[in-house]
Amino acid sequence: MIIYLDMDGVISDFKLACELQGLSNGKMKAPDKYLDFSQNPVMFGAKEAVTALEAMGHDLYIASTPPWRQPKAWTDKRLWVDKHFPTLRRKVILTHHKNLLIGDVLIDDTSYRGQPDFKGRWIHFGSNGIGWKETLEIIKNIDNEMLQRTKLYPL
Ligand SMILES: [Mg+2]
Repeated sequence: MIIYLDMDGVISDFKLACELQGLSNGKMKAPDKYLDFSQNPVMFGAKEAVTALEAMGHDLYIASTPPWRQPKAWTDKRLWVDKHFPTLRRKVILTHHKNLLIGDVLIDDTSYRGQPDFKGRWIHFGSNGIGWKETLEIIKNIDNEMLQRTKLYPL
């Protein structure tokens, strides 16, 4: 399957990064304008999950919406991927319109960049206790469903 991974809040810990960089004091209206994205910690469980998804044979891409007000962050995100997820180099898509992506699964923690209109399955990461463990289970189920469908309706 083609699977898109959001960055902030999915493979990159935006919330923790804001805390570590002193941008979460409540007065800060737009932390994404000031955050140094190159220093974001990796989200708990994300590395292991990416390795597992790759071992399952899925084709992974990163789909991230970079902050429009901080062009430097666009570069920082690219460098961050090089450093933490080298297998996803050159598989980075920066977009404010995730509904236009073509693929099977989108793993994303927010709903305001077209995620609900994505034509595949949107896994709303972080909602209803969905973390990486649950996400891997959901993907295995989707994969099995698709396999069953192929058996029922062979090409
Ligand atoms: Mg996000």
